[in-house]
Amino acid sequence: MSASQPMMLELENQRNYVAGSGNGVQFAVCLDQGGQKTMEDCHSAVTALDEPFSCWSFFAVYDGHEGNAVSQWSAVQLPRFFLASHEMSQLYKEHLPASERDGLIRRGLLKGFLQMDEELRGLPEMQADGGSGPRGGSTASCALITPEWIYLVNCGDSRGVLVSRRTVVLASRDHKPSLPAERQRIERAGFCVQRQRLDGRLAMSRSLGDFRYKAVATLDALQQAVSPEPDIFRWERTVQDEFILLASDGIWDVMETEALCEDVGQWLEHTNDLQSVCARAIDEAVMRDSRDNATVAMIAFPASVRMSPEKLQMETALDKIIELVVTDVVHWLENKSDEDDVHVPDLQELLCCTRTIMDENGVSVPNNSGIGGKRHLIERTWNRMRSERLSVRCAMPSWCLSLMSRIKPRLAGRPPLPRTIDADALAAYVQARDADADRQRGG
Ligand code: MN
Repeated sequence: MSASQPMMLELENQRNYVAGSGNGVQFAVCLDQGGQKTMEDCHSAVTALDEPFSCWSFFAVYDGHEGNAVSQWSAVQLPRFFLASHEMSQLYKEHLPASERDGLIRRGLLKGFLQMDEELRGLPEMQADGGSGPRGGSTASCALITPEWIYLVNCGDSRGVLVSRRTVVLASRDHKPSLPAERQRIERAGFCVQRQRLDGRLAMSRSLGDFRYKAVATLDALQQAVSPEPDIFRWERTVQDEFILLASDGIWDVMETEALCEDVGQWLEHTNDLQSVCARAIDEAVMRDSRDNATVAMIAFPASVRMSPEKLQMETALDKIIELVVTDVVHWLENKSDEDDVHVPDLQELLCCTRTIMDENGVSVPNNSGIGGKRHLIERTWNRMRSERLSVRCAMPSWCLSLMSRIKPRLAGRPPLPRTIDADALAAYVQARDADADRQRGG
């Protein structure tokens, strides 16, 4: 059985996280499959593009439909296409005024989208279909960050938004077929808009792929019913820029731009952990009944830090305590059942037990959603324990199982959690907990 467990872990885990930093920005991406059988959202995150653009960063969210062929391919290829354009190669050749540099970047981006879409059309995956023509497409919502500017580049109905000075200063426009200009282009190309959808089917009016709507021989790429032309929005960078969110419609269908940005701002008062912020955005969407694949990418600038050093210290101590409690709970839950049939707790059980222990000890989580706001921390602790356990168990199963049966900590006998959460209280608690574990091992 042990050999099959890593695969189980992969199947169970429908939420994935990516995080990193570089070029003065921090980022995190959270991708959640939602209630769907397949995951068609993809992302890319490049903190430093290839020379001579190494001081530029590029992030994007792609929401695929009718398969993930287009979204996956685009996520890997898009930067290559716009960086290779003639316009981009002119950029650093001589000192050009800002307006000319901006023009080159915009034309380079547009060319990149058009050329990538053309190359996509020729791929064998796009041709393989039983007669009705090539299938599948994807949105693209991108952020290109240069030392001077932030560009939000959008094709389709995913959305990018920039918050600076606590306000939404830039937001992309969703390409819906019912918008007057989009509808006009669609109808000129011989298609109609029914039930807000192109041809009664496609929910967006611009995308990568979707070649069945890009096949009128007399029209160029920008005049077809579905156009690959991105909208490009620019912002001149300031030290007060806080964060960018890029998300698929799994988020935006149930949340307003301003409201989500305000929520994120509030969460940043309680955490510096971008992964947990992205996870909470998805939790909120799920609570509002989003069943779609949902992806949130967050790119944060230094001004996004809203916690005071004291607050950060307290939050770090609290997180450490929650981690320790979760570790104990997992041990306890696993040891509750027979050793041959190790009980693997689910996230709800863990949340519930952790909350109970915190409540009984009078420890409150000082944010506006209680322990639910720490879901990501709990999930991460649990996943780390599971992956450590699995790798050990695969290497030496009998040794690990016998160790498990010897540890058996009991929650009833564990030391009380500290009432005040700070570094000293945490140190005292860790000491008491270790002494208790020693006693248990001794007895
Ligand atoms: Mn979607």
